[in-house]
Amino acid sequence: MTSPEQIQIEVVVLGSGPGGYTAAFRAADLGKKVILIERYPNLGGVCLNVGCIPSKAILHFAKVISEVEELKESGISSVDIKNDEKSVRKWTESIIKKLTGGLKHLSKQRKVEILEGYGSFLSPNEIEVKDKNGNIKVVSFEQAIIAAGSQPIMIPGLPDDPRILDSTSALLLDKIPDRMLIIGGGIIGLEVATMYEALGTKITIVEMMDSLVAGCDSDIVRPFHNQIKSRYENIYLSTSVTKVTAEKDHLAVNFNGKDAPEEEHFDAVLVAVGRRPNGNNIGAENAGINVDERGFIPVDHQQRTNVPNIYAIGDIVSQPMLAHKSSHEAKVAAEVIAGLDASSENIMIPAVAYTDPEIAWVGVTEAEAKAKGMNIGKGAFPWAANGRSLTLGRDEGITKLIFDKETNQIIGAAIVGPSAGDLIAECTLAINMGCTVEDIEHTIHPHPSLSETVSMAAEMYSGNITDLYVPKRQALN
Ligand code: NAD
Repeated sequence: MTSPEQIQIEVVVLGSGPGGYTAAFRAADLGKKVILIERYPNLGGVCLNVGCIPSKAILHFAKVISEVEELKESGISSVDIKNDEKSVRKWTESIIKKLTGGLKHLSKQRKVEILEGYGSFLSPNEIEVKDKNGNIKVVSFEQAIIAAGSQPIMIPGLPDDPRILDSTSALLLDKIPDRMLIIGGGIIGLEVATMYEALGTKITIVEMMDSLVAGCDSDIVRPFHNQIKSRYENIYLSTSVTKVTAEKDHLAVNFNGKDAPEEEHFDAVLVAVGRRPNGNNIGAENAGINVDERGFIPVDHQQRTNVPNIYAIGDIVSQPMLAHKSSHEAKVAAEVIAGLDASSENIMIPAVAYTDPEIAWVGVTEAEAKAKGMNIGKGAFPWAANGRSLTLGRDEGITKLIFDKETNQIIGAAIVGPSAGDLIAECTLAINMGCTVEDIEHTIHPHPSLSETVSMAAEMYSGNITDLYVPKRQALN
């Protein structure tokens, strides 16, 4: 038996998702010799290949389809489009190809070596990489960055049936079912519901908590819930699935919840009940890396694990499992390795559900502030009074800003409405910069735009609003 090929390198990065490739590129830009290990032929991880990017490409189609429907409602009936999942799939694949090809090119430009295969630690300084033909290479490294991500959680006891989907198989659009049950009213469940509904599927959502989009304030979720209530067949809250039986013509599903029937039949079931970190699948024990009972790898503010030369970033480290959190942590880890003073302490991480309408939030939520007894004030501006929103045929949106009452600094924001995911970026910057209500209301926002709702929410808090009449209250200035 020949011994495996040995490779020496300064920095090894395990996993090439948005965290992994960012870490590898940043470390290379800072002068390090880097190897990037990826088990699949394409770089980009879940996000580019089977997550954020394909889902947003399909959601773009969903948006166009629902906008055409809205035009029909306003009397323009000559526009018609035919749902065609094959074209959607082709378009999605072309975007993935462009992006993953771009990553390969960027790696080449930086001389980051890509090693295709499954990586598993052998010791605190060695990692074994096994390719799909069983060939093994052993990489000896000075520093490692683990960016091995997460995978969908499956509910135990479900039958092994191709009609039971997870987020990965759902995005393949292999078949557009007539009736679909979505288990889990979180971001993935609701985004997949948006796509399939636009492609003609009748949607039912079952969520075990008493509200959709846990973690976001209920006044922001409410307009979204009201919008989808009329479009979807059913939304069962505080309800769990007790059994799924695979029959020849359908999946029979049993529920336990006060408003749900005992049994209903569906053509497909999506399981979207969260993701599990991959901490237990990378030989962490051989390197002495601590992994907690859920599979997360604990790190400090410089992304260092308990093993001083091994760092970890992204989904494998902590919630929220979001690509933009991972890429931020990636830069911190790479910069610390290169001797720079970087930290991921107190970072603001916006969350976005790319549903229709979109929901986005960042910083402190109202519910959280109340639970902690914080002294806060809020300004909420209804989009029904925003001209640009009305021109889009939409009036359900709300922009809400949360302020520290003592300093009048913004500490949180939550938005529901079309493009909320873009609008939240301004709020994130404002929180990071420690902006006061004056900073926001004195910033001239373009008219007519949805972004005006941010400054008007600030005016709602200060009492200086002119676009609405609010009965006399104490103005701040
Ligand atoms: P999630 O944790 O956001 O939501 C899962 C939901 O399922 C929760 O509301 C939970 O109460 C519910 N649930 C759990 N078990 C259940 C059961 N047995 N029956 C009924 N309901 C049940 O998880 P997700 O939606 O799967 O998303 C996973 C991760 O991916 C999240 O961290 C999410 O933020 C991230 N993600 C983000 C985006 C984005 O940024 N747009 C898109 C997709 C995924």
